Amino acid sequence: MLKKKAQLEKTLSRIKQAPYPHHSRVHPLKSFPLESCYVKREDELGFGISGSKIRKYRTLIPSLREQGIKEVLILGSGYSNNVLSLTQLLIENGIQPTLFLKKGHHPSLQGNLLLTSLFASEEDIHWIKGCDWNKHEQIALDYANTLTHPFLLLKEGASIPASFPGALSLPLDILINEKELKLRFDHIFIEAGTGMMASALILGYQWINRQTQIHVLLLAQKEQEFLNQLSYFHSEMSKLLGDSFAESTNFKLYRPRLHQSFGSTSTEIFKQIRFLAKQEGFLTDPLYTAKLFIEARKMIEDMRLSGNILIIHSGGALTLCGYQEELRKVVEQSYISFD
Ligand SMILES: *Cc1c(COP(=O)(O)O)cnc(C)c1O
Repeated sequence: MLKKKAQLEKTLSRIKQAPYPHHSRVHPLKSFPLESCYVKREDELGFGISGSKIRKYRTLIPSLREQGIKEVLILGSGYSNNVLSLTQLLIENGIQPTLFLKKGHHPSLQGNLLLTSLFASEEDIHWIKGCDWNKHEQIALDYANTLTHPFLLLKEGASIPASFPGALSLPLDILINEKELKLRFDHIFIEAGTGMMASALILGYQWINRQTQIHVLLLAQKEQEFLNQLSYFHSEMSKLLGDSFAESTNFKLYRPRLHQSFGSTSTEIFKQIRFLAKQEGFLTDPLYTAKLFIEARKMIEDMRLSGNILIIHSGGALTLCGYQEELRKVVEQSYISFD
C-alpha cells in the first residue's frame, strides 16, 4: 500500500498545483448513534470558496494559466457553488469569466446568484431559458466563435480532467487525518453532484488497495450516469499514473429517499440544519451537506454499520444566504424534533 501511495504522491507532485488550502481536520460527531462517527471539515478550507471546489481548482487554475487561457465560459445554474467560486479565482488570475446561466422561473437576485453578481458585470452574464438549456453548449460555442483570444468552455461543476489531480488530494488528505487520529476509517460518506469528488475518493482508495467502503449519495445523477463518470475518471487516473488498476468495487450508491430532484428542499432539511447547528456546532447547506447528514444517519442505522465512520462535509454553506425565510421559520418555531 505504501508503495502505491508513494507512487500517487509522486505523480501528483509532478503536476503544477496552486497553493490553495488542502488540509482539513476531522473531529468526532456527538449526535450520531455510534461513538466512532467523525466529520471531515472541508467547509473550513475557505469562506468564499470552500471544500471540494477549492481542491479541484488547485490544478484547474494552473492548467488554465499554462494554456494561456484569457476567458472561461462557465456553464451552470445561477445558484451554483462552482459558478460563484470559480468566478472569484478567475478574476484574481486576470482571466475573464463569462457566465452562461440557466434561467429558472423566477431568477431572483438572492443567495449564490446575488453573490456571483457582485463579481460579474451584467454584460458578462448570458441567460439561457430553461427550455433552451439542452442547447447550452451550442449557445456558448456560438458566442465563443466571436472570440479572438484563447478561451475554455467549462462544463458544469468544473469536472474536467484538469481538475482531477486536485480532486485526488481528498483521499490523500484523509490518509493524513487517519495518521493524526491513529485510526482507520471503515466507512466514508460523501455526496455527489457531477460525481468527480466521489470518483476521486473511490479511485484513490482503490488504487492504494484499502478496504474502506465509500458510500455515495447521488443528488443530481442516476446510478448509470455516475458509473460512466467513474469509469471515465478511472481511465484518466490510469493515464496519469501510467499504470492500470482493477475496477472499483469499494463503493455503494444511494439515491435520497426524500428530495429526489436536485435543488429541492423541505422543512425537514431546515430542521436538520438547525439540529446540526445546535448539536454539532457547524453550518450545513440545504442542497448538499444537510441532505448527506440526514441520509448518512439513516444508512448507518439501517445497515447497522460499525467501525470508524467518516462523513465528508464538503462546504458550500454560502448557499444559506438564499434561504433566510426558511431559516427564520425554524428558529422562530424553535423546535428540535428528531424522532
Ligand atoms: C459542488 C459540490 C458538490 C458536488 O461535487 P461533484 O464533484 O460535482 O460531485 C458536493 N457538495 C458541495 C457542497 C458542493 O459545493
